[in-house]
Amino acid sequence: MSFDERLLDGKAIAAAVRSDVAAEVASLRARGVAPGLAVVLVGDNPASVSYVTAKERACAEVGIDSFPHHLPADTSQEALLSLVGRLNADPAVHGILVQLPLPCGLDEDAVILTIDPAKDVDGFHPTNVGRLVLGQPAYLPCTPHGILEMLERASVPVAGRHVVVVGRSNIVGKPLANLLLRRGIDATVTVCHSRTPDIASLTRQADILVVATGHPGTVNGDMVREGAVVVDVGVNRVPDASRQRGYRLVGDVDFASVLPKAFRITPVPGGVGPMTIAMLLSNTVQAARHLGT
Ligand code: NDP
Repeated sequence: MSFDERLLDGKAIAAAVRSDVAAEVASLRARGVAPGLAVVLVGDNPASVSYVTAKERACAEVGIDSFPHHLPADTSQEALLSLVGRLNADPAVHGILVQLPLPCGLDEDAVILTIDPAKDVDGFHPTNVGRLVLGQPAYLPCTPHGILEMLERASVPVAGRHVVVVGRSNIVGKPLANLLLRRGIDATVTVCHSRTPDIASLTRQADILVVATGHPGTVNGDMVREGAVVVDVGVNRVPDASRQRGYRLVGDVDFASVLPKAFRITPVPGGVGPMTIAMLLSNTVQAARHLGT
């Protein structure tokens, strides 16, 4: 297999998802429904600003209306909750995205709890989390959903495979593990975290290894079985004076040492990131279809 064939090209797969979404948007618009996503950004965290910009641009490309609400870092909890309340009631808004993390002093849990579960296109509301765990219809969190969609579209079988997930966060590791365990998806799942002893003994058992720790180099070639599929969720900025912007993006996997072992591997950037945005668009269209106004 050539290098290109071994790369799990999230950018290309996400483009295919976006094209499907654009077709659905066109058919909804023909029925008089204009899908709309409210994008709430508080403060000016550089990574958050770039994620929000990418999401708003992606909405425009597929014909979804985006309603930006960019608030100062000193926004009060009451003002933020009141905005979410107004968006819940706004029929032009089908999906509500509050970019996390919020600045210190704002209660993320309270904000998420205020979002109408029917507009919770990030899938973070406890109602949607519970539905995911119970195997009921739910908005699936975008990154786990994007990983699964990428594997499916790249014809990487998941059923019956041993998937080892490194990281147990509420937005990646835990929902991904729950999604993989669903009937019909049928993976066998091991979840590791910072308190797991001898992680390498577990990662080496993985048919599919997903790494989401937020630390570059968490997994190196010695920790990967020959022929494994490796999904690197990490997005880390490391200083790089040779780049105009002064940094480059790397994942949580040491790409150079893992590449020779992996059957397929996602690059960073251009792997999971574009899939996350594509699934946000897909969830927004799903919300517009259900709310239908
Ligand atoms: P969190 O910091 O919320 O969680 C990290 C998890 O990794 C924790 O469960 C932690 O364990 C575990 N962990 C940390 N270090 C190690 C280690 N050395 N060995 C094993 N486990 C470890 O991060 P997120 O899940 O939010 O994000 C993870 C990465 O994914 C980040 O780089 C983030 O930028 C990226 N990301 C990318 C997205 C995309 O679209 N591409 C979307 C979301 C995130 P413990 O619980 O014990 O502390």
